[in-house]
This record gives sequence, C-alpha cells and structure tokens, in this order.
Amino acid sequence: MKTAVRTSPGALAQAAALLRRGELVAFPTETVYGLAADAGNPRAVRRIYQVKGRPAHNPLIVHVPDVAAARRHLRHFPPAAAVLAERFWPGPLTLVLPRGAGLCREVAAGLDTVAIRVPAHRVARQLLRRVGRPLAAPSANRSGHTSPTTARHVRDELDGLIPLILDGGPCRVGLESTVLDLSGPQPVILRPGAITRAMLAGVLHQAGLADVIGDATVRKDSRPPRTLKSPGRMARHYAPRTPAYCFTAREASRAARWLRRQSAGFRAVLIGFSSAVPALTSAAPKVMRVLRWPRNPIACARRLYTILRRADAAGAQVMLVQLPPRADGLWQAITDRLKRATRELPR
Ligand code: AMP
Ligand code: MG
Repeated sequence: MKTAVRTSPGALAQAAALLRRGELVAFPTETVYGLAADAGNPRAVRRIYQVKGRPAHNPLIVHVPDVAAARRHLRHFPPAAAVLAERFWPGPLTLVLPRGAGLCREVAAGLDTVAIRVPAHRVARQLLRRVGRPLAAPSANRSGHTSPTTARHVRDELDGLIPLILDGGPCRVGLESTVLDLSGPQPVILRPGAITRAMLAGVLHQAGLADVIGDATVRKDSRPPRTLKSPGRMARHYAPRTPAYCFTAREASRAARWLRRQSAGFRAVLIGFSSAVPALTSAAPKVMRVLRWPRNPIACARRLYTILRRADAAGAQVMLVQLPPRADGLWQAITDRLKRATRELPR
C-alpha cells in the first residue's frame, strides 16, 4: 500500500471518505498524532490493533467533536465529567466513563467503560466534523514504540501500512493526554499528562465535587497491576529501539563511571539537562553525541519524542537519558514517559 502524506484542508475530504469506508488515517492532535478508525466499525477498529501490533486487551481512546457527542456515546455522564469537560475540552484530557451506544466492543477491548476526549487541534476537529462519526485513535506508532509528534514520525512508523497521513505540523503538547478514570467511586489518574493533578483537583474542588484524586500510575520498579486497566500503565512503553538507560543528576558520576568501564569502541548518546552534561562528557569519546532537554517543561514535553527519536537514530549502542530534576506539574508526566522508555542504569 502506498502511504500519502497530505496537508489539510485539501486532504480532509479524502480522509473522511477513507474513514467512512472503514480504512485507517493518521491525523494530528495537540497531544500526539493519532491512528484513526470509525469507532463504530469493529472491522476497522481491529485493523488498528493489527497495524500497530497492539495487544487486543489494550483499549483505545475515542475522539469526538464536542461534549454533546461524548454524552451520546456514554451511558452516564456524571457531574464531575461535566465540570471537567466544561473546563478542559477541547484539550488533552481523556475521561474513562461507562460505554454507551455507537461504540464497538473492540474500541474498549471488551470493557464496559470507554476512554473519550475532545481534541483541540484544528485539523482533528475539522476531520471529526467531516466524518460525522466518533473516531477511535491511539497514537500512530507501532505498539510500545515512541509516540509520533510530526507527520514524518508517523511515516517512519507506518509507511506502507495505511493509505493517508494528514500533516498538521508538530504537535503543540507533545505528550499523550492525561487519562482520568471517572467510572469508579473516586476519580483516578491512569496516566499523567499536561492536565495535571493540581489542575483537576482545583476544578473539582471549586465545583464542590471530589477533590481527592487517586493515582494509579505505577512506578516501574513496583509490580504490575493485577488487572491491566490501562496500557499507559505498562512499565515498558514509549520506548526507542536503542537500549536506553535513565539516570538522575545525582547519578551522573555513576553513569560516567559505567561508561568508562565499557570497551574502547563503545558509543553512547547522552540526553541531559545542562547540569549533568559535564560529568558525562568527561567520559568522551564514548559520548558520541549530546542532546539537551529544554529546561522549560512545556518546551521539554513538546520536544520530548523528537529528541528521543533523534538520539535513537544516532546509531549508538546505548542512550543515556537524564530524568528531570523536578517531579511536579508537567514534569511528572515527562518523568513518567521517560521511565517507561528506559531502564535503570546497570550496576
Ligand atoms: P494510546 O491511545 O496509545 O495513547 O493509549 C490509550 C490509552 O487510553 C491507554 O493508555 C489507557 O490509559 C487509556 N484507556 C483507554 N480505554 C480505557 C478504559 N476503558 N479504561 C481505562 N483506560 C483506558
Ligand atoms: Mg500509544
């Protein structure tokens, strides 16, 4: 199959026609690029799993154009959902709620809940309006790999597997949406993102609703949850192909020692914040390339996957990835993705 990369608005009609016919189209959202299929068509949705190589038990996110459409496809839309949707939609917040009419079982991997959101990207919104159907769309990458934040990234992942990639430029947020489960007695964050815990708690509190928010984000060194509620919770995810090890600023000298112990021809790519870079470049020439994380969290999130992909393409034996020095706000989501993309530095 030949994969076309086209910009909107010219390609919108073609994209909508393909989707209505049950084909897949990659499209930009403000978080990452999505791989879309008609969420009411089981055959089309199964094709997403097939193209991504995604395990059948990992549910997808459904995208709708507005709150009214979300309500139509859910059995229940609780007050907490209403206030959060009012404040954060369109935007990078996904809500898990009881699945209703018009969404096939495959979208939710058989669960009776479904993850749903209203994306903010202009092209995503135009596409949803054109198609007139809810779109199931996980990130447009092969399962477990780094998410795509440009049309070029999508082509690197899925060339020849889908007919069309809509190019809407680089994604503004750059990180997958925050996933908040509202289907239980208490809201639970299943995946941290640009809508932070503090932002969610603030809005719920102001509305006189639950301001206690659980966090199901597992640490990579803890045991996996008994029921896999959410693929974003798998310890290994978002990973580059080159073996990647993470370290903190405090571990920079240990990382440098580890590097010096490797054989003469060993080559590493370093991605770091300025603070830890000097300790490691003392292990030159084993550090063949240094890439720097932006110090501003918004810029860091936006560039995260592009920088990981660049490091991955350098042809090194390993990537050494410094974790952010802070874990609050947006840094929490950045740290979460980096921990899942890497392993701990070997002793
Ligand atoms: P992706 O589209 O690749 O970013 O992954 C989809 C995300 O949606 C997963 O990480 C899950 O957190 C979430 N998800 C989708 N459906 C459900 C559901 N019914 N219950 C819990 N989480 C879900
Ligand atoms: Mg994904």
